[in-house]
Amino acid sequence: YNVPKATNEPVKSYAPGTPERAELKAMIEQMRSEVIEIPMYIGADEVKTEDVRNFTSPHDHQRVIGKYHFGDKSHVEQAINAALGAKEMWAELSWEHRASIFLKAADLAAGPYRAKLNAATVLGQSKTAFQAEIDSACEFIDFLRFNVQYMTGIYKEQPESSPGIWNRLEQRPLEGFIFALTPFNFTAIAGNLPAAPAMMGNTVVWKPSDDQIYSANVLMQLFKEAGLPDGVINLVYSDGPEAGEVIFNHPEFAGLHFTGSTGVFQHLWKTIGENISKYKSYPRIVGETGGKDYILAHKSADAKALATAIVRGSFEFQGQKCSAASRVYVPRNLWAEVEGYVKADIEDIISNRMGSPEDFKNFFSAVINERSFDKIAGYIDRAKESDKAAVIAGGGYDKSKGYFVEPTVIKAEDPFYESMKEEIFGPVVTVYVYDEEYFDEAIYLVNETSPYALTGAIFSQDRYAIDYAAKKLVNTAGNFYINDKPTGAVVGQQPFGGGRGSGTNDKAGSMLNLLRWVSPRTIKETF
Ligand code: GLU
Repeated sequence: YNVPKATNEPVKSYAPGTPERAELKAMIEQMRSEVIEIPMYIGADEVKTEDVRNFTSPHDHQRVIGKYHFGDKSHVEQAINAALGAKEMWAELSWEHRASIFLKAADLAAGPYRAKLNAATVLGQSKTAFQAEIDSACEFIDFLRFNVQYMTGIYKEQPESSPGIWNRLEQRPLEGFIFALTPFNFTAIAGNLPAAPAMMGNTVVWKPSDDQIYSANVLMQLFKEAGLPDGVINLVYSDGPEAGEVIFNHPEFAGLHFTGSTGVFQHLWKTIGENISKYKSYPRIVGETGGKDYILAHKSADAKALATAIVRGSFEFQGQKCSAASRVYVPRNLWAEVEGYVKADIEDIISNRMGSPEDFKNFFSAVINERSFDKIAGYIDRAKESDKAAVIAGGGYDKSKGYFVEPTVIKAEDPFYESMKEEIFGPVVTVYVYDEEYFDEAIYLVNETSPYALTGAIFSQDRYAIDYAAKKLVNTAGNFYINDKPTGAVVGQQPFGGGRGSGTNDKAGSMLNLLRWVSPRTIKETF
């Protein structure tokens, strides 16, 4: 089918003097000067409640930028009913009709909504301009355009027929509604989790993280402007367990599209299991969860490239990526050089490039909320006191104005020290220095230290070592990088997702993912 060929949306630089910088600056100023009222979107209605809550900027937590209307169980029920009410209409529209709405959404995000989406992500989630551009502009646009292209591949795939017999595969949407439960850390993911099932003809109840409601509101306005009919995606804000009680007890619950923590995902999976006999169909469960992503360096690695990967892979967006590097295995022969580069870079970030993301020179800003801040600070404090680990760079934190934690390196003497094993979801990376003659031991540690398997990287200039590590580490990462940081997967180029405790590995932005949202009917017709 002849849909426009998807290509990756070019990333704008936001360098001084560029028009995009001026436009985004103006949009940030405009949006921060008002307190935006944020309703829920259920069916045709913008729903307001008595329970109005403040939305503040993580880097300036006393500044209120939005007031959102928080819902309860009754709103989740209304959202389910709206989704079920719109179902038949939406499923019966041609796929071309649905595709055109999402292509239009992509064009709106690339054009008139770009600054607004990015400003909302800067103000609401404390991403820098460039990080917001990669996320809420480019990745979101790419998800929409590539998924439309993959969708055509799904509809095109047909079985053989024979003389007098015409066989067909009809890709029906799932029977019931889909629940999209979305994270704070990527606006693009928050947009894609409801959009992907909707594209395949499903209707959706979407509950974002409370920390992403500010940009979710902009995404929803964009979907509506693109022509998405009422009730196809219904956006509600509510207490998680309360929403879960309504959703997972409903006989028409047909699927969960989730990105978030491993603990929550396992809890939801169990709940779904307990309720399985209530449902009309077996629900599809798709989740991308935690990570304890590694960089393994071989003695032949380039020290400078490795150091750059450690800093960028661990600290971009304050390490709040499922894919962020958080444990690094460095051979002793390289450590002094790597340590020098990493420390110098971190000192430069702390002195010159850390602060409000509204200041375009900054590379590094605040973490998302107080709970996160306290959790991260706890890991840092324990490392400072431990005799098995030491904080060798960064280590400061301050929540007086915003939730600021310095980029921090812990050096562990024990390869199973807590911060080598547990997901912190913040700007903390732990390094273990191994004897360079014991590469196999380092491989063993990568394999055995963590229950996750999302991303990982090998740094080496020795082709044999690379191949050897790739084989021995085959199940440790759904996204494996050779001589690159383990973050920054691009839609259409590095399909993203992991196994083990990191998720169902249904690769976001791929045909594999879209296939989870359809239930094929095989039709045989004879003449
Ligand atoms: N896709 C992102 C990356 O490759 C990470 C997504 C996430 O943190 O959930 O860096």
